[in-house]
Amino acid sequence: MIWLASRQPGIVGTVTSPRDCYMWRVSIASLQRQLRDFAVERDWEQFHTPKNLVMALAGEVGELTEIFQWLTPDESADVMVEAASAGRVREEMADVLAYLLRLSDVLGVDLEAALAKKIVKNAVKYPVETAQGVATKYTDLSSPQKPSE
Ligand SMILES: [Mg+2]
Repeated sequence: MIWLASRQPGIVGTVTSPRDCYMWRVSIASLQRQLRDFAVERDWEQFHTPKNLVMALAGEVGELTEIFQWLTPDESADVMVEAASAGRVREEMADVLAYLLRLSDVLGVDLEAALAKKIVKNAVKYPVETAQGVATKYTDLSSPQKPSE
């Protein structure tokens, strides 16, 4: 499940306070269904091949990356302060999520299960004892744990 929030029902926005926002749960399946319906209504399923969706996803990641491309680390941390840049970030993140959800729908990938499995796998690859506070790839940690898969 993904938690989305807004001050107005039906409109997804930024949560500034749990008290001043309306929250509801939206399932991955529900979002996939909305995106599928959007494509079907426009006869766009013919274009939603895995290859095209992966390329569209990469394009949207590129658009998100472009926002941050020449910012300093401090500027990137403040990207949500200015309304215009915050809006662009929100929009590109939504585009990325939309294509990821559409791709997973077309390929029949259970994203919740895949992510849950990956979190467990990463916990094995990056044990707290060796990975805490360091940005080192698991293969270079002092006692690297090789994942079983
Ligand atoms: Mg975009």
